[in-house]
Amino acid sequence: MIGYLIAKDPLPPFDRSKLYEYILAGNGIFIRAERPFDRLRAGSGLAVLLQRVSCEVRGLPSLDEYVHIERLPEVSLDLMLAEVADAHPNEALFYVVDNGGSWDIVIPEQVRSPNRVAPVNPDDPAVQRAIVEIHSHGNNATFPSDDDDRDEAFGFRIFVILGRHQEGYPLIFCRVGVYGQFQEIPAEWVFESLPHDVKDVFSPQAWACPEETCDGRD
Ligand SMILES: [Zn+2]
Repeated sequence: MIGYLIAKDPLPPFDRSKLYEYILAGNGIFIRAERPFDRLRAGSGLAVLLQRVSCEVRGLPSLDEYVHIERLPEVSLDLMLAEVADAHPNEALFYVVDNGGSWDIVIPEQVRSPNRVAPVNPDDPAVQRAIVEIHSHGNNATFPSDDDDRDEAFGFRIFVILGRHQEGYPLIFCRVGVYGQFQEIPAEWVFESLPHDVKDVFSPQAWACPEETCDGRD
């Protein structure tokens, strides 16, 4: 189920019989995972190499992290934000699935509440096929909740939260999940561009606040 490698240059291809691999490299321990990813085909899968531990291991080549995904167009985010506004203060759920050459946004049948959203049918093929899973946070902070950590522990995909700053503008949070091992990533790695009023939680602009009393994160 899990592979274990010692890094060499170049790395051998990902072993698709494994869920993911640990790689010991000159600059630490990495995790690698792939879902069918084709650089030449739009709307294909996902390939990641993420550093889990930073340390020097003498004699081995160093590795650089990557997240390879065909980025989603800005218009897809616009459409989801409109649905999020309709659902507010309830949460809303979306899946981005590979449609053989493009991304499709799927809004599954779902149970919505202000603190949780879940698909009616977790065995729906769209749930399994999702490369990116997106849900909104009504009035809650734009960070994963304990429920999110539990709900997102079983897949390999990108997880996105759409929230709102206390000043009213939309916020976006992105992370990669590899079977419960999470790493936060910039939204620009997932979307070609962000609508002008949407700010990445990890950008300094997201927390620019005119009030001296404002301490940033809501
Ligand atoms: Zn959540």
